[in-house]
Amino acid sequence: MLVVTKFGGSSLSSATQFAKVKNIVLSDPKRKIVVCSALGKRDKEDTKITDLLYILHAHLKYSVPYKDIWDMIYTRFLGVKEELGIDYEIKNDLDELQKELNKNIPQDYLVSRGEYLTSKLMAAYLGYSWVDAKDLLKYNYDGTLDEELTQKNVKLAVSKNNQIVVPGFYGAYPNGSVRLLSRGGSDVTGSILANCINASLYENWTDVSGILAADPRLVKEPRAIDYITYAELRELSYMGASVLHEETVFPVQQLNIPINLKNTNRPEDIGTFIQNDCPASKTIVTGIAGKKDFLSFNIQKDHMSNEVGFLRKGLSIFERYGVSIEHTPTGIDSFSVVVAASQVEKVQYELVTDLKKELGANVNVEGDLALVAVVGRGMAKRSGVCAKIFETLGKKSINVKLLAQGPSELNIIIGISSKDYEETVSSLYDSLIRNN
Ligand code: ASP
Repeated sequence: MLVVTKFGGSSLSSATQFAKVKNIVLSDPKRKIVVCSALGKRDKEDTKITDLLYILHAHLKYSVPYKDIWDMIYTRFLGVKEELGIDYEIKNDLDELQKELNKNIPQDYLVSRGEYLTSKLMAAYLGYSWVDAKDLLKYNYDGTLDEELTQKNVKLAVSKNNQIVVPGFYGAYPNGSVRLLSRGGSDVTGSILANCINASLYENWTDVSGILAADPRLVKEPRAIDYITYAELRELSYMGASVLHEETVFPVQQLNIPINLKNTNRPEDIGTFIQNDCPASKTIVTGIAGKKDFLSFNIQKDHMSNEVGFLRKGLSIFERYGVSIEHTPTGIDSFSVVVAASQVEKVQYELVTDLKKELGANVNVEGDLALVAVVGRGMAKRSGVCAKIFETLGKKSINVKLLAQGPSELNIIIGISSKDYEETVSSLYDSLIRNN
């Protein structure tokens, strides 16, 4: 029963946060691997160490004076060490790094020093062994993970030590140079490590008590979801709910390792469990998410239904321009193709011209479309959800422009005008989740 536990930047922003992390980690000896992000924001106005390092790199690259930024980084690390009286001469590492600062310092290396130094501080504070991520996570030159070698390294490190602290966010290429993951990548580090040791649980600690059932900027005090399947999470994330780095799920899902999202500031809250088999949910709908800025290409041609291959021909024109398609609602003699506006920014004119010419169809483009996803494993084979959606939106005089449900019946997508977006999310939350 081994647990991998990852702490995000807000859990590591100050000496006070470090103390909370220590209490959490030491309260359960099963926490075998501790993954650290870099020092995060102490308050809204503060800047993350990772952001400072990116700025520092830009200053170096363009030969702009960088002393002020370097001083900010230096004093933040030193401040945490001194406040906690940690027995690790971080000054030496900082001085070494300072000597390395020059115009050509690789960005990946410099930015990864945030996690590197933060995790070393944490290891010393906990009294655990520190293992560099560059000796564990091995990447091929094409950016794919060398799974075999990584697993071998991780297993060895775990067998040699009782507990280890590992920096998140990076690994190494075969020549030993640092490979930085994309932003938020410490989530992925934790997930890969959990996979390597076949952990019984992957804990991911942040500053919220789990995934909220809707965006709190649109809905007043949405509840936290207690259990959600990987598939539900994917639907909600795809539709805009920002929870974990999108590559986090795959390594743990493969082995059915649950992820538990927890709040460092309220460790008593159970948070959200993400796993394959979830208990029946309290509400039929698990969560609601959505996005604005979609366009609908409406294509109409008399007797289109008699032309075999018409839809294929139409869609191949979108493929030609590399446009990814979200939905294709169809009528008898018409169909629509819904795409993200960003996908067709540069090619809309050409697309319409080709569609008209090659299909001999009338084409009009409708903008300002928003999509809202109602997601819930409890919806499958259940009647009445659509009725409730229509009733709710009907009462608010919100016009439904599109309705789509996938074969898994895990989600219902509703297309509305962008101006109705906020009201759609909040009224659906009230009728489908809050009042149930
Ligand atoms: N510190 C990095 C970032 O801010 C990676 C992480 O926190 O996961 O993106």
